[in-house]
Amino acid sequence: LYNMVQDLKGNIRVYCRIRPSFNGGSKGVIDFVGEDGSLVLLDPSKPGKDGRRVFNFNRVFGPTSTQDEIFKDTKPLIRSVMDGYNVCIFAYGQTGSGKTHTMSGPSGGSTTDMGINYLALNDLFQISSKRKDIISYELHVQMVEIYNEQVRDLLAEDSSTTKYPFIQAHKLEIRSCTSDNGLSLPNATMRSVKSTADVLNLIKVGEVNRFVSSTAMNNQSSRSHSVLTVHVHGKDASGDNLRSCLHLVDLAGSERVDKSEVTGDRLKEAQCINKSLSCLGDVITALAQRNAHIPYRNSKLTLLLQDSLGGHAKTLMFAHVSPEEDSFGETISTLKFAQRASTV
Ligand code: ADP
Ligand code: MG
Repeated sequence: LYNMVQDLKGNIRVYCRIRPSFNGGSKGVIDFVGEDGSLVLLDPSKPGKDGRRVFNFNRVFGPTSTQDEIFKDTKPLIRSVMDGYNVCIFAYGQTGSGKTHTMSGPSGGSTTDMGINYLALNDLFQISSKRKDIISYELHVQMVEIYNEQVRDLLAEDSSTTKYPFIQAHKLEIRSCTSDNGLSLPNATMRSVKSTADVLNLIKVGEVNRFVSSTAMNNQSSRSHSVLTVHVHGKDASGDNLRSCLHLVDLAGSERVDKSEVTGDRLKEAQCINKSLSCLGDVITALAQRNAHIPYRNSKLTLLLQDSLGGHAKTLMFAHVSPEEDSFGETISTLKFAQRASTV
């Protein structure tokens, strides 16, 4: 039934989440959060009616929304992973808008207010245990980042050194998903997980590796996409197999970089991010419009996720916005991007 309901609503959903304001009680540039999934953006340079612009999404979560409220509307997708559907969940938005908060939880490794990654895995294990007499499930996890159009294994462990540059040595090639085992990254480390505790430990390893690589490269982790993938394999008593995967993606910050101010590595980085995010937008828009040609091959990100975008797969994009007035430019471009990707 879950899947039927989901199918009727389409396979691409776009939710908007507004972060609480950092300037105390200031109302900011977002005027109204509609129960129906609409919000009004106020242009600070055009007071009055002319400066009001309405956007519509499948859902809008206001600044006081909790992690549990967010997850309640994500849960049906998690169940469909266990039913054999591939699912991608993205966090999009400028740096500081709350992407990592939604996916991982509050900064600083707090264990309260856990994000979608943890809640989703927790749910997968619960469903697996509930169904254990009918289907026996196995869960495996991969974790990679995409930086400058290169894929790096975040779970690679090297016995001789645990320091950078070992990640450099694990640049990965993306295979077509028709390869033998159906994996797009057959050479990325794959770890079996039996509990949420196992997953939390792996995420910790991945985050340390991400931090180490980003520090060594003199950049912040907000300049790369991180992809946590859960591979699900189920087998029932008659020997029938079910395979699916869940991709949990914390995207690089979508902010525009002023090209007159950056050069060299920084400029290349900005161009790579810009290109991959616009490719992702193009793919989702093409899918939403049911175009015949879907431009998966234009970026590593869409190539990597190809078998989980389109077809019977389900996609959920969280567009994150900051309410402060000085973020207006980025907020409007995030909302436009998200609106373009949605079928509302
Ligand atoms: P991003 O990953 O998009 O760069 P973060 O998730 O790191 O942004 O959020 C920036 C800061 O705002 C962090 O300190 C985070 O804890 C805080 N924050 C973001 N969203 C929320 C929220 N919904 N409620 C409370 N704090 C939040
Ligand atoms: Mg972040």
